[in-house]
Amino acid sequence: MVISADRFLSDLEMLGAIGWVEGQGMDRAAYSTQYAEARSFVQKRMEEGGLATWIDGVGNLFGRIEGSEEGAPAIMAGSHLDAVPGGGKYDGPLGVVAALEAARAIKEQGIALRHPLEVAGFIAEEGGPLGGTFGSRALAGLIQELPSPDLLARFGLTAEGIEASRRDGGSLCCYLELHIEQGSTLERRGIPVGIPTGIVGISRYAVTVEGEANHAGTTPMKERKDAMRAAADLLSRWFRWVDTRDDFVCNVGVLSLTPGSVAVVPGKAEFTLEIRSLKDAVMTEAADKFRAFAADMNRCPATVRPTVWKGGVDLAPELQDAVERACSGANIPCVRMPSGASHDANSMAHITSSGMIFVPSAGGISHSKDEWTAPEDLARGAEVLTRAILEADRLFS
Ligand SMILES: [Zn+2]
Repeated sequence: MVISADRFLSDLEMLGAIGWVEGQGMDRAAYSTQYAEARSFVQKRMEEGGLATWIDGVGNLFGRIEGSEEGAPAIMAGSHLDAVPGGGKYDGPLGVVAALEAARAIKEQGIALRHPLEVAGFIAEEGGPLGGTFGSRALAGLIQELPSPDLLARFGLTAEGIEASRRDGGSLCCYLELHIEQGSTLERRGIPVGIPTGIVGISRYAVTVEGEANHAGTTPMKERKDAMRAAADLLSRWFRWVDTRDDFVCNVGVLSLTPGSVAVVPGKAEFTLEIRSLKDAVMTEAADKFRAFAADMNRCPATVRPTVWKGGVDLAPELQDAVERACSGANIPCVRMPSGASHDANSMAHITSSGMIFVPSAGGISHSKDEWTAPEDLARGAEVLTRAILEADRLFS
């Protein structure tokens, strides 16, 4: 082992206690008091480990060790420090503490990296009023529209701070992120490490089916324009088609009926269709198919309005190879797989070569207080990250 697994796991548990509410899970939203406390904890550990630290204009934390080559771009490794309400201890912090452990181990063992190594603790990765991956999007210069003045004030942000957080892609040679899988693929297959090949894109559509509200007792069945029934027909036709495919996933997680009374035939059904795929073309094809089904409704017309489009991101093949070499060097089996969840690596891939490492999530559970990864899996992930950093140091000029 290159890293100190005990030190790494103990820091991860100590960090996991900050904002933890027994029986409820994590209470550590970005910009909260608990968040600030967690970030201070990591910053202190960074300084004790001999890293130079700073916090940027939006609240991202960084720690850096220098490399041997003057002016070489930095290897960045990290993840986020915020959590969803009632979430777990490892979603995010794992990647930050593992990168910190990598930096400490590399420094202590006198390994001379050519590139500087920067450990990043991003803020506001989880969806919130600022939108997901806010901290890393600020760094990557992907904030196209400034948050409203109200939101800026609420989080103590400024337009200047957001602009100042932006990094030039030329100052980095790559980004590596260790994260829990948040799915059950690794556990099911009994493989300890996953190498994501890409991060799926997300598209969402607001769908409205228009019918006619009427008396549920006196209106003959044949004369009804029942928006609920039409929506159900549309969705069952759609899901029958979905079952013939395996290159995307979709979800209808919100559905509402108007006027929403037990004695009234629904006059309107509204729902959100979400489609996720690694391939943008597949998302487009699926949405076109849904639109075709929606256009084919006779009694109750449906409208389909796109609301969200985040394209899929390919992770760098050379970093996938580097992670694979890191795994085989440590005798750890691994498998390549897509990432079904979004991550800071999504933002980072816009400005530098980006790669990820997954470790198993017990039962595939995440965004829950019951989220758990075995200590040996956490430590294996940190070991692979450390070795992947050494591989990357050789890989990039
Ligand atoms: Zn996460």
